[in-house]
Amino acid sequence: MKALVYHGPGQRSWDEVPDPTIEVPTDAVVRIDSSTICGTDLHILKGDVPACQPGTILGHEAVGTIVEKGSAVTTLEVGDRVLLSCITSCGRCRFCKERRYGLCTGGGGWIFGHLIDGLQAEYARVPFADTSVYKVPAELDDEEVLFLSDILPTAYEVGVLNGRVEPGDTVAIVGAGPIGLAAVLTAGLYTPSHIVVIDRDEGRLARARDLGADVTINNSSVDALAAVLELTGGLGADVAIEAVGLPETFELCTELVRPGGRIANVGVHGHSATLHLETLWIRDLTITMGLVDTFSTPRLLDLVAEGKLKTLPFATHYFPLGETMTAYDTFADAATTNALKVVLSADPIAGKPAVTHGKALAGVA
Ligand code: NAD
Ligand code: ZN
Repeated sequence: MKALVYHGPGQRSWDEVPDPTIEVPTDAVVRIDSSTICGTDLHILKGDVPACQPGTILGHEAVGTIVEKGSAVTTLEVGDRVLLSCITSCGRCRFCKERRYGLCTGGGGWIFGHLIDGLQAEYARVPFADTSVYKVPAELDDEEVLFLSDILPTAYEVGVLNGRVEPGDTVAIVGAGPIGLAAVLTAGLYTPSHIVVIDRDEGRLARARDLGADVTINNSSVDALAAVLELTGGLGADVAIEAVGLPETFELCTELVRPGGRIANVGVHGHSATLHLETLWIRDLTITMGLVDTFSTPRLLDLVAEGKLKTLPFATHYFPLGETMTAYDTFADAATTNALKVVLSADPIAGKPAVTHGKALAGVA
């Protein structure tokens, strides 16, 4: 089969590789119908994730069809259409029993496209299939659920739920990439008074307004702290969600919140940030952080099925799976291509729902 293989920092190629097989009875093999690329894949390609070894197939977000299952897989059948999550759950360890699948010590956690071969491929081996994949309702298209593999549960759990967003809150979201925009969408479920989005890219701020932000601030020209204080009568936001991963944006979040406020860090940080305890200690702030667990995926799937969570606007570019190399170039150059998420589609199989929105959305980018 063909797959996108990481060959060390700066090097990737679309290679012929051996087909995956069932290795242990809890595995399934899935044909990938739709896949996508994440900012984390770009981090790997920069060499920022040394645990990912050269030779690994990248990708941790996909929708596919089960083509083979191990003898211990009991809740899934060949032919089932499933969402593959960025987080795998052994279902048996202490953390999985606490729904903290991201911390799984039984061989799960973030493994696809990191510790084992990933999902930008024609087929993939899926460990712990019973406890790790989600059946997709027949009426939903692949790209309506594809972003529930990672960005939506990440923004919702690590941003909105950790930040304890409540009705009436002012929520400030720093960073309007796919994660920040998914936080806009899922914070909106709680009817906050204001969703304020801060970014330096006008195109992304426009998308934030489309998705429900009522205040957008371009902090390359406007003092974001002064603007948020003015909006909130001098108090500050109830919740700040950090969705960039830089020291300055984390520190901005600590300044943006009111006394007693919550800071939910989602960004992956490569450098230490200063925690100004000398000024923060008296303000009763709560700071949270974490890797996504994806315990919210069933709930998010229900919301998509009920039409309460509109995920299609995230899909800005469509490519056949065989053009994954070009898709990477487009995704990595988001500043000029305006890419948010790309959809990589395998050729449709007879009788299976295929990606249908590509043509309709072609003009979006
Ligand atoms: P992205 O790079 O696409 O978006 C980041 C946005 O931040 C961009 O729109 C950029 O213009 C903006 N930005 C950069 N510098 C800024 C500044 N100084 N002030 C304001 N805005 C600025 O990233 P993404 O895919 O949306 O991911 C956001 C973060 O979330 C990344 O750090 C990513 O690694 C992290 N992440 C965390 C988890 C988790 O489980 N915690 C999971 C996935 C991604
Ligand atoms: Zn586990």
